[in-house]
Amino acid sequence: MGAYTLSAVTLGLCVLGTYCAPLKSVFVTFPGEILKNMTDQEFANSYLERFGYLNLEERSSRLASKSKALMRMQRNLGLPETGELNTETLSAMKQPRCGVPDIQNYQTFTGDLKWDHNDITYRTLNYSPDMDPSVIDDAFARAFKVWSEVTPLTFTRLYSGTADIMVSFGKLDHGDPYPFDGKDGLLAHAYPPGEGIQGDAHFDDDEFWTLGTGPAVKTRYGNAEGAMCHFPFLFEGKSYSSCTTEGRTDNLPWCSTTANFDTDKKYGFCPSELLYTFSGNSDGAECVFPFVFLGETYNKCTTEGRSDGYRWCATTSNFDKDKKYGFCPSRDTAVIGGNSEGEPCEFPFTFLGKTYDSCTSEGRGDGKLWCATTSSYDRDQKWGFCPDRGYSLFLVAAHEFGHALGLDHSNIRDALMFPMYSYEEDFHLHQDDIAGIQYLYGPKTGPDPTPPQPTDESPKTTTPTPSAETPKTPVTTPDTPVTTSRPIDPSQDACEVNQFDAISEIQGELHLFKDGQYWRVSAQRNGEIKGPFPIADKWPALPATIDTAFEDLLTKKIFFFSGKRFWVYHGQNVLGPRGLEKLGLGSDVDQIVGAIQRGKGKVLLFNGENYWRMDVKAQSIDKGYPRYTDEVFGGVPVDSHDVFLYKGSYYFCRDRFYWQMNSRRQVSRVGYVKYDLLMCVDPSRRY
Ligand SMILES: [Zn+2]
Ligand SMILES: [Zn+2]
Repeated sequence: MGAYTLSAVTLGLCVLGTYCAPLKSVFVTFPGEILKNMTDQEFANSYLERFGYLNLEERSSRLASKSKALMRMQRNLGLPETGELNTETLSAMKQPRCGVPDIQNYQTFTGDLKWDHNDITYRTLNYSPDMDPSVIDDAFARAFKVWSEVTPLTFTRLYSGTADIMVSFGKLDHGDPYPFDGKDGLLAHAYPPGEGIQGDAHFDDDEFWTLGTGPAVKTRYGNAEGAMCHFPFLFEGKSYSSCTTEGRTDNLPWCSTTANFDTDKKYGFCPSELLYTFSGNSDGAECVFPFVFLGETYNKCTTEGRSDGYRWCATTSNFDKDKKYGFCPSRDTAVIGGNSEGEPCEFPFTFLGKTYDSCTSEGRGDGKLWCATTSSYDRDQKWGFCPDRGYSLFLVAAHEFGHALGLDHSNIRDALMFPMYSYEEDFHLHQDDIAGIQYLYGPKTGPDPTPPQPTDESPKTTTPTPSAETPKTPVTTPDTPVTTSRPIDPSQDACEVNQFDAISEIQGELHLFKDGQYWRVSAQRNGEIKGPFPIADKWPALPATIDTAFEDLLTKKIFFFSGKRFWVYHGQNVLGPRGLEKLGLGSDVDQIVGAIQRGKGKVLLFNGENYWRMDVKAQSIDKGYPRYTDEVFGGVPVDSHDVFLYKGSYYFCRDRFYWQMNSRRQVSRVGYVKYDLLMCVDPSRRY
């Protein structure tokens, strides 16, 4: 969301006649904005599909099913049920919300998914630069308390190792199959209880995270003992609604912690990289400017050397020599999104030749306020959105933790589990939320028998105050901003392969094929990866690229598919290549990407949208096929590039991820091929 073509808007300005810039500069496209040419219809379709309303099964009557889907969406979001894509519905679709689907269309993750223990652990893997880490810790702790107050559940924070609920911030593609979308739109998502990524909660760090009412600025030092800034405040008779450097010569931003500094004289310093950093390896030391990184000199925080967009600085004058760094806290005037995330607005700035002393919505069709982060937008084109009220991290976290405990969305507008965000000052759980969570875990039983014990893993729990807690180990990101290259030839290391050509269990071992080579992993002992071996050494008749392979459980014959051809190996003997049409497949079938053995000499062959059942002995397709994959295997990607059977479960692969489905055709897990099946060590998730 938030993608707008600006040309029409700026032309509109000309029509209004307030001023008319020369045509050349009228067509302003803000750099970094994704210009999606999506019509309202396309947008609505993608919304209905993404959140589970559009049921692909009813493909015979697409129109009827879309109107039905719209009505269901309207009912869930409390709109008049017209079944029409009217302005009201469209605008509801553009509201900020949770990324978890409203309708579990195919009963993805079916059954009462819940934790099998009541002492739940969580771990915060990283922090948003938007708020002081202690404010974030407090928001998460309060969000967990919302649920522990009405159930027997307890929540204990871990500082290392694997916790049930891993909490992290990330932007766009943040390492799972569900990327975020920049500012607004999707705010966060969480997975239902289970191992691995299940139970984890992710927050979109392109949002501006606050306590819901604008910048939440916790002060340090000064004389107010870390109180929050009070905006606006009076200083020498002038009103300030953000931190200021007025009255100081050291350029450190500060604020009053009461409404009137002139009378109360209470103040503290605001977040600034000149005062401190967070996470990193420098114990919160301040930035040192200028510093040297890879031979270049930097005078301010930078995102160079990182792929996650987070700003960092060195805490000595030479990073190359000392390797000391930390992440830069965002100033309260820092912009959100745009192309200079975290930089403060620069006032005055010029835009299309005109000077601006404050944030403006000129040049935008959505009314959002923005500013330039250098003195001239026209020259540098550096910009971002101005800080707004932001989203309450506490409220969003309480909602997401509800998912992490097993709750679905509610269609009651006042419930916490309603999918759309709305700010509520005096928050309390709705009866619907309480009924939902108590259905899973029961009501709270009496007073706590014992206070939660600190865990062995957490030496830091001895610290009396939580105020300065920053994890010693970072987090979802590499330790150092330098990208380290592995010494191993990537073509030799299965852990460097993002997507395999084919995966199949053959003779009791998982075989992973890629570009003329294959690796073997014993199904018995998790972990040891053998290979790569040249495919040609063992199966000389095969081409380099294998689309899919399967071993017939009765005859132990191995079938290999590549493009429109297939081969059958029986020991050293090979039959083929033969054309797919010999099996009875139509000439329009150009490849088979997956195979699942079904017993009784049958195997299912997949080609994205369709699948067929083949009789292995007769080597022919059974009557009544093809069928639609998503009619029978709901909740897995229809564009899977590999499908296989492993240890009794079906695996549907897309990109780096797999969807595991049990024999009752319920998606039981989503995970990484590399880390879960191959047990590769994930350098960015060291837990
Ligand atoms: Zn949700
Ligand atoms: Zn995620």
